[in-house]
Amino acid sequence: MTTVAAYAAPAAKAPLERTTIERRAVGEYDVLIDIKFAGVCHSDIHQAREGWGEAIFPMVPGHEIAGVVAEVGPGVTRFQVGDRVGVGCMVDSCRECENCLRGEEQYCLNGMVGTYNAVGKDGEPTYGGYSEKIVVDENYVIRIPDGLSLDIAAPLLCAGITTYSPLSHWNAGPGKKVAIVGLGGLGHMAVKIAHAMGAEVTVLSQSLRKKDDGLKLGADHYYATSDPKTFEELAGTFDLIVSTVSAPMDFGALLSLLKVDGALVNVGAPEEPVALNLFSVIGGRKSLAGSMIGGIRETQEMLDFCAEHGIGAEIELISAAEVNEAYERVLASDVRYRFVIDTATI
Ligand code: NAP
Ligand code: ZN
Ligand code: ZN
Repeated sequence: MTTVAAYAAPAAKAPLERTTIERRAVGEYDVLIDIKFAGVCHSDIHQAREGWGEAIFPMVPGHEIAGVVAEVGPGVTRFQVGDRVGVGCMVDSCRECENCLRGEEQYCLNGMVGTYNAVGKDGEPTYGGYSEKIVVDENYVIRIPDGLSLDIAAPLLCAGITTYSPLSHWNAGPGKKVAIVGLGGLGHMAVKIAHAMGAEVTVLSQSLRKKDDGLKLGADHYYATSDPKTFEELAGTFDLIVSTVSAPMDFGALLSLLKVDGALVNVGAPEEPVALNLFSVIGGRKSLAGSMIGGIRETQEMLDFCAEHGIGAEIELISAAEVNEAYERVLASDVRYRFVIDTATI
């Protein structure tokens, strides 16, 4: 066991503070990672505030981890000391069910092990990336390509894969009209990735406040959802809509913007349920779907895609002590476009 410094929420809704945690000894197939950067995902806030239900405290959030391998167990074959690596939302899964065998460990039938706010196979709680070091089985570690610096790569481990996976699954590409709802951490990655895939990209944001940024990130069009004219003008327009909104939304209104056979894929995880009139999907044979992060193999594919296209996150680097303030700014939709903790400051 190694004692490492971390930032943790001691209880639900309590501010995060500096503490120490124990990391397990490096096992046969484990990799010890010196964490350099940890992204701040809105999911960290939902969980640290117990918005999704009962949680495990103290909680060390953080599932957008970028760092360097410091030690490997004797059975490790894929990584060496000095390798640049990332860890996302999962650190284990059953490895035997049909979804694990297909490389979709995020949908493990026996429950994947979350990077934090979960219990590992050793029966101990897992602790996330707002810390100096982490020990992870090599099968759940991803290589960060040389072309990507670690700070802008960190958010790809959640925001990047969560948007890449549905864009790829629903075939965003040339000739496709794709709308991204919400220009936050996930939304800005979705715009960059959909643009790189060759789709015609529209941002649907609450206001036009971030329009210049959205167009620079790769959007072709930008509309405000607060303006009722947006819904008249864009009715029946899109092949695919990806909603990244963290609060309950009017999904009926978004569905009205799809073409016949279009799909609205929700990746936002609001704390409250939403109501939906099912006539919104009947008319136009529309699909309403969801998507959760991505498998390990697809996460590597996404990082390679991002390196090839020169895509990283737009980040605001913060010290660990600034994390509580950053949470408030995320909640106020005042994020441009991902806070990343420099873990040297913990
Ligand atoms: P974020 O940075 O806060 O971005 C969310 C964006 O949604 C905001 O920037 C804002 O964009 C828009 N928004 C916020 N409140 C709104 C409201 N009341 N009405 C309309 N729009 C609103 O959050 P994030 O880190 O991107 O995460 C987004 C959501 O995805 C969270 O719920 C998170 O838990 C979830 N998530 C899911 C997965 C998954 O696997 N499915 C993975 C990661 C995160 P505008 O200012 O442009 O309107
Ligand atoms: Zn996340
Ligand atoms: Zn499984």
